[in-house]
Amino acid sequence: MIKRAFVLLLALNLIFLLCACGQSESSRQVYVMDSAASLRVFPANDEAINAMCDTLFEIDRELSATNGELFEINENSGGNMPRHMAEVLSLSLKLAEKTGGAFSPCLGAVIDLWGVGSKNYVPTERELQTALRVSDVSGIELFGDEIALRGGARLSFGAIAKGYASDVMRDMLLQNGVESALISLGGNVYVHGKKPDGGMWNVAIRDPAGGANDWLGSLALSDKFVISSGDYERFFESGGKRYHHIIDPKTGAPAESDLTAVCVVGESGSAGDAYSTALYVMGREAALSFWRENGGFELVLIGRDARVTVTEGIADAFTPNEGKGYTYETAYR
Ligand code: AMP
Ligand code: MG
Repeated sequence: MIKRAFVLLLALNLIFLLCACGQSESSRQVYVMDSAASLRVFPANDEAINAMCDTLFEIDRELSATNGELFEINENSGGNMPRHMAEVLSLSLKLAEKTGGAFSPCLGAVIDLWGVGSKNYVPTERELQTALRVSDVSGIELFGDEIALRGGARLSFGAIAKGYASDVMRDMLLQNGVESALISLGGNVYVHGKKPDGGMWNVAIRDPAGGANDWLGSLALSDKFVISSGDYERFFESGGKRYHHIIDPKTGAPAESDLTAVCVVGESGSAGDAYSTALYVMGREAALSFWRENGGFELVLIGRDARVTVTEGIADAFTPNEGKGYTYETAYR
């Protein structure tokens, strides 16, 4: 008899396994930032959860590159940035520098050219080079909250917006004195406090080779962000070749990584989101060097060779889902 009752809660790339419990709960499922978001708060606090959802919609209105205020700024080659956008841009520029440009908020022109998941277009080399020329920080000029985009430069926050939003959600949970909560924004997960029964939350890591319900391991955590990026999330096929959505800023093309997915576990949603994208671009060895040189986060790296590397700070928290064909190893500092 299985003692624990599992509730399966599907996010875009992560699944949660929750221990059922009797405590009162407020929950909301909304569609925001192009993904399904799920918020659960224990004990019930409708006021907090409603305010959190309103804030998610506000962030989405500002940061959406297709119909939000960001779209207007890109179309008008600049303008006055609203508060979340100014904050995300400032964080993004720091994280771009820290990751040596592997994460960049200035790739909008290249990202729009490919349109992975929308127009699914394979650009010519000439088109790519033209877009790449305006896809670094030199295309941006800042005057306080006023931004000017030069020569067709465009901003994109697709790799950080959900992580940023999860940071804002964490701050709101703290402001509202919420003891226990589970937030999932399209696979960007934040587990707040302990489960209502006092145990750790179990966050499952999706198996990139499987379907949406397959996972290759789980992590027992509290008060952590768990953020994944992978080439299985969004891609298209053309001429027998597969093109995914994570761009190598050096080439402007989908990154040719030896990894299929990167999961970052840490104390910051924004950094975790930027890192998960950047470390995918860097590949396994450079990702591990980056981890050794920078504190504050841990990793699960899933290789194309079916090798799963778990960094030592979360090795005890990680339980492999055996029988999926992966080998597991621990990386040390
Ligand atoms: P994520 O799912 O967090 O890895 O973000 C991927 C999304 O961010 C893509 O769909 C693009 O819109 C955008 N993106 C792709 N490559 C990069 C990159 N190297 N740096 C910043 N944003 C990127
Ligand atoms: Mg990301």
